[in-house]
Amino acid sequence: MAHLEPLIIRVAVPSPLRRLFDYLAPANIDKNQAEQELQPGCRVLVPFGRRQVTGLIIETSQQTEFDLNKLKPIDQLIDAEPLLPASLFKLFIWAASYYQQPIGDALFSTLPVLLRRGELPPEPGQPGWKLSTLGMGLGPESLKQARKQRALVELLQDQQTGLAESIILQSFSRTIIKQLEHRGLIEAVVIPPGIRPVENLLKQDPLRLYSSQQTAVDAIQSHGFNSYLLDGVTGSGKTEVYLQCIDKVLRYGRQALVLIPEISLTPQTEKRFRDRFNQPVVTLHSGLSDKQRLAAWMQAKTGEAKIILGTRSAIFTPLAAPGLIILDEEHDQSYKQQDGFRYSARDLAVIRAQQESIPIILGSATPSLESLNNCANGRYQHLILNNRAGDAVQPDWQIIDLKTERVESGIAASTLAAIGTTLNRQQQVLVFLNRRGYAPALLCHQCGWTADCNQCDSRLTVHRARGRLICHHCDHQRRIPQQCPGCQGQQLIAAGEGTERSEAYLQQCFPDSKVLRVDRDSTRRKGAMQQVFDTADSGEPCILIGTQMLAKGHHFANVTLVAVLDADSGLFSPDFRGHERTGQLLTQVAGRSGRGKARGQVLIQTHQPEHPLLELLMTQGYGQFARELLTQRQFSQLPPFRHMAVIRAEAQQASDADDFLQLVRQLAENIAPPSPDLSYLGPLPAMMEKRAGRFRYLLQLEAKQRSALQALLSQLAPQLESHRDSRRVRWSIDVDPQEL
Ligand code: ADP
Ligand code: ZN
Ligand code: ZN
Repeated sequence: MAHLEPLIIRVAVPSPLRRLFDYLAPANIDKNQAEQELQPGCRVLVPFGRRQVTGLIIETSQQTEFDLNKLKPIDQLIDAEPLLPASLFKLFIWAASYYQQPIGDALFSTLPVLLRRGELPPEPGQPGWKLSTLGMGLGPESLKQARKQRALVELLQDQQTGLAESIILQSFSRTIIKQLEHRGLIEAVVIPPGIRPVENLLKQDPLRLYSSQQTAVDAIQSHGFNSYLLDGVTGSGKTEVYLQCIDKVLRYGRQALVLIPEISLTPQTEKRFRDRFNQPVVTLHSGLSDKQRLAAWMQAKTGEAKIILGTRSAIFTPLAAPGLIILDEEHDQSYKQQDGFRYSARDLAVIRAQQESIPIILGSATPSLESLNNCANGRYQHLILNNRAGDAVQPDWQIIDLKTERVESGIAASTLAAIGTTLNRQQQVLVFLNRRGYAPALLCHQCGWTADCNQCDSRLTVHRARGRLICHHCDHQRRIPQQCPGCQGQQLIAAGEGTERSEAYLQQCFPDSKVLRVDRDSTRRKGAMQQVFDTADSGEPCILIGTQMLAKGHHFANVTLVAVLDADSGLFSPDFRGHERTGQLLTQVAGRSGRGKARGQVLIQTHQPEHPLLELLMTQGYGQFARELLTQRQFSQLPPFRHMAVIRAEAQQASDADDFLQLVRQLAENIAPPSPDLSYLGPLPAMMEKRAGRFRYLLQLEAKQRSALQALLSQLAPQLESHRDSRRVRWSIDVDPQEL
């Protein structure tokens, strides 16, 4: 019997089990040393089953509920000091518990891949470039034809030890760097960290704020936790407000974390941050290699990077000196992860700001009902920018009643006429349709056969250019048949419209104008999106047609007409958020119009010209529209007035999924019987019951208090995990679901 209590180390490992695993300290170090070195937040290598895995120490203890003789020692300690700052570590633990996610999975799914694999973080420093031997020997006459490249070589001639890439990017594009690297004239180096005094903070003068911008900037306190909702119509100058708030926190040596929904769609945003500040900006985007991602992560952690720009998962970036969090387009659905660790980056951003005691700005032209409600109940401060900056004015909205018009390929005659007029005025048109492909269905004129996906409850979409039928839910693909498989008839009809079809029709009507399509199909090729932006930015008259990718962020200066081909699909969505999303989407798309000098026009094609919500949106704007929806939500006791969680199950047999959720409901009701404050709905089949060969069911839980829901779920989850029936299904818990 040991007379000293051994030290127990609780470790999170990447595993779907909702628990920590107990280990003993490595055999070769004594208890004192172990207590000092094995700190929460350090990674370790541990034996796990028959494998060895990387884990993270969560806590140490003197006690274990397991048999001491069965505990194994840690194989190796990886980090000499905690990998994550304490505040971020706390956020992970909070998030894993709130979203009912196993802590190991939560942690490891958001760490850079190389750290997950147990690699050591690189030495602090920034990636940079210096001249190679070849580059140093370059004669003064070389590169005469490539002025930009020449200029960069000259800049580097004065920098023996090299220059940080983030500094180079302030004056040169990535392409120039790549070209010089390709020629072998420069090589990558790590620039050691140095204290750079905050002088010459600005590279570009700030704009003179107009009064509501100034009011917003003045209201936003740089110290302490406060949440602000910056509610400003598209083009009202929210970004300028962000820039000036960032300016303030950089001045006292702090960092700003800026989250945006999608970086590739908004290259202008990144450029505006780089253009304004003489300070290192790192961007965390999907195009980074594992090594680049880790380097960027380290720069944020060491404080080298002053502005960190990223998408959803960037909320988990460690910061040496956090000063401000900004979350742009806060209503955007992409902030909620829809599988695995189902967190909301928006909600976590607010929690993180609170834990770090710093301000957070949520910005949007179409704020979510959750955030508007948080303004109403005083949790957020509501800052409003009502007008467009500069000369731009709000566009005119007009309804096109599809019932009374001749419509071809989804485009009504008067819409077509308006497009022609706009092109003649040398202006640009944006056509919006949220369905990619040529047509959403293929059917037989003779027998009514339709091309269905046999894996899903769904039709196959016709993609004519590729000659294929594709399922947009499971990606099942096959050739477009020549004849009907049912009756051998020859008359197969592509029914309905997708972007590809409307594109073809528009090109036929306007053969002399460029028609550019922007959807997931057309932008798959690298650089395709950039080409579209370049054409649009050149200002030449053209038609841009696309899905909601077109509604995001990009500022098209010469677009004066926006046409929404199908406003109806959103108005009839069975999801309770359908109306909110439609209002946001229409307002965002409309906001693409008339951002320059000329007044914009918005055409909304619908079969429901008298729909009261559409009317409200058009005549009163998004603010009134959202207030009306909030009243309705309160009346029907839906979020944000009730709190919701969904338990989903899917299986190859529908009955397995259904039965499992029946069981879940029983277990749940044993813990917390239904009451006016806590209700259950289901099991119900999902909106698309069969998808990718599996039947999907869901059980909905609604509570008046978040805490009641949390208490229930944290008791329920371990029961489900250990129940043997859970092995027959794939199940998950989604707290604050965004989609039902
Ligand atoms: P938002 O982010 O709200 O959509 P932006 O910040 O992109 O709006 O601003 C729209 C346009 O107005 C940009 O071209 C921006 O440079 C310009 N702008 C913003 N604020 C001002 C200002 N105070 N004075 C002049 N122009 C401004
Ligand atoms: Zn047929
Ligand atoms: Zn399918």
